[in-house]
Amino acid sequence: MRDFSRDHRWLSINTATVRAQGDLLAIVDACARAEIGAISPWRDQVEAVGLDKAVRAVRDAGLKLSGYCRGGMFPSDTDRRQEMIDDNRRAIDEATALGAPCLVLVVGGLPQFSRPGSAASKDIGAARALVEDAIGELLGYARRAGMPLAIEPLHPMYAADRACVNTIAQALDICDSTDPGCSGDLGIACDVYHVWWDPALFAGIKRAGRERLLAYHVCDWLVPTRDLLLDRGMMGDGVIDLKSIRAAVEAAGYGGYSEVEIFSQDWWSRPIDDVLQTCIARHRSCV
Ligand code: ZN
Repeated sequence: MRDFSRDHRWLSINTATVRAQGDLLAIVDACARAEIGAISPWRDQVEAVGLDKAVRAVRDAGLKLSGYCRGGMFPSDTDRRQEMIDDNRRAIDEATALGAPCLVLVVGGLPQFSRPGSAASKDIGAARALVEDAIGELLGYARRAGMPLAIEPLHPMYAADRACVNTIAQALDICDSTDPGCSGDLGIACDVYHVWWDPALFAGIKRAGRERLLAYHVCDWLVPTRDLLLDRGMMGDGVIDLKSIRAAVEAAGYGGYSEVEIFSQDWWSRPIDDVLQTCIARHRSCV
């Protein structure tokens, strides 16, 4: 396992972690000041400053990307399907322009939540079938762009509205049926917040292996968790066995960035440099 205690060369900052403190250009500047080597930006942050400006800012700061957030939200009505596919193709194009190593997919839940305006449904099985179908269709486009797709399983508390793919095993089943040749173009993003509780976690990581492990996200699970979405913890403040999970991910062949992704009202209320310095310190001691 790599030694993270001496420096933070493998640390990436998911820009949602400090989204309240400034726009993408301000975040890029702050990361450069902290000598952070990589970020993973969100589409709305890129759109707010403009894609060209974002590309230039990332390049001028010498930053790498650990991913691009996000594509997905696949389940939709039939008449919204093309719009959904086009939206995801644009996400692939943006990720390519920014030099991301993968586009992270938050696959969506029931159609009325993932593509508002779609008819209400309680059929989560049908939503899962729509996810697999859309990934199958997008994979060709992603391949031609040279942009790998990383399915991120989300904690089951988000199954209705954000992602009906909730375990690594489920994500890998989609990978295996859609990309049986294990081309490197389709894999998973392993986010400890979503999968730490899973009794099959370590089996899933092992099964994923180097070919399917495209991204690794860290934060912590606070007890109690006061908000389903916006109360993620800083590494070391919660109950996730971060070192054991990273050991498993690296034993499976993953050697990429460890991306800090914290949506938290608490951390959003603090100065950006303080948050980044805390991320660096905890990355060295806890991850
Ligand atoms: Zn994540």
